[in-house]
Amino acid sequence: MNPQDAWNTAYHQLEAQLGAAQFNTWLRDAALLDVDGDVWVIGVRSVFARDMLEQRLYRSVRRVVSDVYGSALELRFEVVKAAPRMEAAAVETPLFKLLAQQDPTEPSVPLHQRIARPERPELPETELNPRFTLDRFIAGSENEVALAAAHAIVEQPAAVYNPFFVYGSVGLGKTHLLQGIAHACRARGLHVVYIPSEVFVNELIQSIRERTTAMFRERYRGADILLVDDIQFIGGKDSTQEEFFHTFNALNTFNKQVVIASDRAPRELTTLEDRLRSRFEGGLIVDMHAPGFETRCAILRGWAADRGVELPNHICEQLAASATTNVRELEGMFNHIAATSRFLRKPITTSITDDALESYRQPRYHAVTLGRVLETVAAYFRLRVSDLTGKNRAGRINQARQIAMYLARELTMTSLPQIGDAFGGRKHSTVLHSCNKVSEEMEYDPALRAMVADLRRKLTDE
Ligand code: ADP
Ligand code: MG
Repeated sequence: MNPQDAWNTAYHQLEAQLGAAQFNTWLRDAALLDVDGDVWVIGVRSVFARDMLEQRLYRSVRRVVSDVYGSALELRFEVVKAAPRMEAAAVETPLFKLLAQQDPTEPSVPLHQRIARPERPELPETELNPRFTLDRFIAGSENEVALAAAHAIVEQPAAVYNPFFVYGSVGLGKTHLLQGIAHACRARGLHVVYIPSEVFVNELIQSIRERTTAMFRERYRGADILLVDDIQFIGGKDSTQEEFFHTFNALNTFNKQVVIASDRAPRELTTLEDRLRSRFEGGLIVDMHAPGFETRCAILRGWAADRGVELPNHICEQLAASATTNVRELEGMFNHIAATSRFLRKPITTSITDDALESYRQPRYHAVTLGRVLETVAAYFRLRVSDLTGKNRAGRINQARQIAMYLARELTMTSLPQIGDAFGGRKHSTVLHSCNKVSEEMEYDPALRAMVADLRRKLTDE
């Protein structure tokens, strides 16, 4: 296999293995730039991504790439302003992403001169995972209501369950279900907009800055079906909820379907305005449950059939018994084992699975909380947490605060508005600005890079 093909294969395996959120944040735009002996040079979009890949994801990425290529490789990550994958897709790339690519040292050319705008505002090109179709979604007693509702919506959008609100913890198939509905509706010729709520927020902020809110509105309100994933990230006390509320009402008025996924029930979305919450509660709310043993076996068989992997029954059961909490974990194990057997050119046996399962038993870094970031950064700079959350903008305190926001963004699973809240009620645009500033300064300030790396180690090594 040549390096480019190997990279392409590894890229798709990493997508499955890391899960959509991690993959989209750190690797989606990565591209193989060069092969320098045993060192492969991978281009990424930001300093942010490079650091993350070098320091936290290096081993997983290297393992997958080496497995696919069939020999042990080293990787080097380099920041490129416009990764090749992005150039090809320049027109479909959301504006906020294009802006993030801009070189800050370049004179700023207005965006409209950089990208040829379509005559009519097109719906954003939403990226759907081709694997996330409804026919690949395995039905089990734990999710049958959600799946039945999904089918009913595809049959008759906006007729029965509108809005449809599905919630459950991470890795239970919410994104798969939403995208399954999106694929099926798109195949029926409907105008489908699937969007993670964070992207909605970012695009809104962007459109306000660019004075293109009219276009923004038209795009979302022109949908036949709007699917918003991870709505919990829309929280906060700003114009975003207002805008979303109006979008929601506009779609409702024209009898369009709205589907929402969340990690918790509407009543637990405490930062959500009451009027939005009661809108959600007016539709069908379905709670997704972790699949039981039988369903986990069926899901594994589905994957094996899909990818042409021979998976003996007793191994299927061994795996299903090992990953009990969520499907994403199960998928990680399955991919690992399938890749190992392919690499060794041996059928899947218990000796392969025992080894693989062992590596999953090792403690993984536990989720870093906002509180821990605040405490750790404050202690590091000999400040109090209240200095970081307070109003004082003196140089030293301000810099510590910006670094803390950067680390919060990178290491915690929270949204910009949530970080803003934790830092004394700051706006998400302030948080974004701080993160970008730290990330830019690290480019030419090795001392800052070392400091951030040091803090990152303190936060994640335990
Ligand atoms: P969530 O959005 O709830 O965090 P995802 O939709 O990303 O979870 O699902 C995680 C992984 O598990 C995906 O690869 C998805 O295809 C798979 N998965 C979850 N539930 C099922 C199911 N019932 N059938 C098939 N695959 C599933
Ligand atoms: Mg999801």
